[in-house]
Amino acid sequence: MAEQETKTATAEVKPATPQAKPELPKAEEQTNCLACNKPLKKIKRYYRDGKYYCAKKCWRNFINKPR
Ligand SMILES: [Zn+2]
Repeated sequence: MAEQETKTATAEVKPATPQAKPELPKAEEQTNCLACNKPLKKIKRYYRDGKYYCAKKCWRNFINKPR
């Protein structure tokens, strides 16, 4: 009895195409205050430590707020 070796010739295995599209933008510009979450206006915004706040008061509230 001779065993028949079924060779899987040219097995077309399609790679799984990732369907999940990256919906998140790469660099999202901060538009809201970190403390009070109000929308930041272009003119009036307080920049501190790489983050934007609407006022210095909000910055102090943010850094004083414990996690
Ligand atoms: Zn604020």
